[in-house]
Amino acid sequence: MKRFRNASLKWKFMILSSVTIFVSFFLFTFLQYHIVYNWMLKQEEKMVGKTLEELVAFYDEKSPGLTKASIRKSHSFIEALNEKNQRITVMDEAGRVIADVSNDVSPSFNVRDKAIKKRERQHYYVDNDHAIIMRAPVMIEGKKGTIQVVRQLERFDQITNAFFTIMTFFGMGAVVISSLLGWLISKQFLAPINDLTRMMKSIKRKGFQQRMEKRDAKDELSELTNMFNGMMDEIEGAFEQQKQFVEDASHEFRTPIAVLEGHLRLLKRWGKQDPVILEESLDAALYETNRLKHLVLELLELSRAENIRVVTDEEVIELNETAGKIVKNVAAVQPHFTIDFHPYRTPLYIRITEHHFSQILMIVLDNAIKYSPMEKWIRVEITDDEDKVDVLVSDWGIGISAEEIGKVFQRFYRVDKARSREKGGSGLGLAIAKKMMEKYNGRIDILSREEKGTTVKLSFPKEEMSQ
Ligand code: ADP
Repeated sequence: MKRFRNASLKWKFMILSSVTIFVSFFLFTFLQYHIVYNWMLKQEEKMVGKTLEELVAFYDEKSPGLTKASIRKSHSFIEALNEKNQRITVMDEAGRVIADVSNDVSPSFNVRDKAIKKRERQHYYVDNDHAIIMRAPVMIEGKKGTIQVVRQLERFDQITNAFFTIMTFFGMGAVVISSLLGWLISKQFLAPINDLTRMMKSIKRKGFQQRMEKRDAKDELSELTNMFNGMMDEIEGAFEQQKQFVEDASHEFRTPIAVLEGHLRLLKRWGKQDPVILEESLDAALYETNRLKHLVLELLELSRAENIRVVTDEEVIELNETAGKIVKNVAAVQPHFTIDFHPYRTPLYIRITEHHFSQILMIVLDNAIKYSPMEKWIRVEITDDEDKVDVLVSDWGIGISAEEIGKVFQRFYRVDKARSREKGGSGLGLAIAKKMMEKYNGRIDILSREEKGTTVKLSFPKEEMSQ
C-alpha cells in the first residue's frame, strides 16, 4: 500500500484504470457466461424432454398390450427419433435392455437402472464428459420398465468452452488495452503538471520572467496554468515594486546625506575658525538630520500601514467627537489658520483605532496647511452617506492639476519637489493614508483645481451601533 501511495500519478492512474476495467469486465462476462450457459442447458434439457415425451406417447398408445417383442419391432421408430449424441434405451423391470439405439454417445455413459417409479432427470459427469439423463416408467407386459434417454452434451460443452475461452481472451485483451489507454491518458493529463514542475525548476534557476504556455482547452488544468501565470505576474510585480521602492528610498536619502556631507566638509575646512560658518553649517546639518529622521519615521509608518491586520474586535470610534478633538489640537498649534469644523447632527460610528484615524486625518490636515500659502482657511465636515460616512477636508490653497491628481498617492511623489521639500514633505503622507484607508475598507479621493483649492474625501464604512 505504501508503495502504491509513493508511486507516481501516472502509475496510479494506470493501475486504477486497469483494475477498474478488469473488475467490471470480469463481472459483466461472468454474468453473461452464466446466463448463456443456463439458457443453453435449458434448451438441451428441453430437447431430451421432447424425445422422451414422444417415446412415452408412442408406447402409451400401445398400452396395456405392450410387449417386449413389439418394443424390439419399434427399433426403426426409435432410430428415426434419435438424434446425434443421444442414446435411447428401453429396459425391462430388472434393467435388462430390450431396445437400444445410440448415435455417437461415449460408452462411458452406458448407464442402467432398475425400474423407476416416476420420471427423473440427472446430470451425469464422467471424466471431462457431461450428459443429461432422463427416464420415464413404461408398462411392459404388466411390469414397470424404463425408457431412458441419454444426451451427451459434447456440442454444448464445446460451445460453452469456446465461449469461455473467447471471454477470457477478450478479458485479457481488455486489461492490456485498458492499461495502455490508462497510461496514454494519464500521460496526456499529466503533461501540463509535468510542464509546471519543469517550469518551476526553470524559474528557480533563471528568475521570475518565465511563464507557462497557455493551453487551448478550457479545463481545470488551463485554470491551473492561468493561476500559476497570474501568481507569477503578481510576484514579479511585487518584486519590481519592492526594487523600485528601495531605489526611490535610497534616492530620497541621497540628497539630505549629500547636503550633510557638504556642510561637514565645509566645517572641517573653514568652519572651525569662522563662527558664522560654524553656526550656519551646524543649523543646516541639524535641519537635514531632522529631515532624515522624519523620512525614516515615515518609511516606518508606511511599512506599518502595510501590515495593519484588521481584527473584528478592534475599536469603534464616534466620528464627530474624535475628529473634533484632532481638529482642535491642530488649530492650537496653527494659530494663523482658521479651521472650521462641521460635525454631523447625530453620532456616527466607524470601525478603526483612534490612533490610525488620527494619523490619516493629520496627514490630510497637514497637507491642507502646507499647500495653502495665502488663504489660511480650512474646513472639515462630516457627512452621512447611506452605508458610509465621509470626512471632507477642504482648503483654498494651490490645488493640484488634473494630470497630477492620480499620481499623488504614489510613494515619494511630489508635485513640486522643491516646495514640498521646503515644507518638510517626503511624498509619503498620502501613500500612507491610502494604504491605511484600504486596510479599513475605506477610500480616499481628491477633488482639486489648480490655484483654487483641494478637497480630500475620506470615506469609511458605517458601523451601526445599537444603543
Ligand atoms: P508630502 O509629504 O510631499 O506632502 P504627500 O504624499 O502628503 O507628500 O502629498 C503628495 C503631493 O501631493 C504633495 O507633494 C503635493 O504636491 C500634493 N498635495 C497633497 N495635498 C495637497 C493639497 N491639499 N493641496 C495641494 N497639493 C497637495
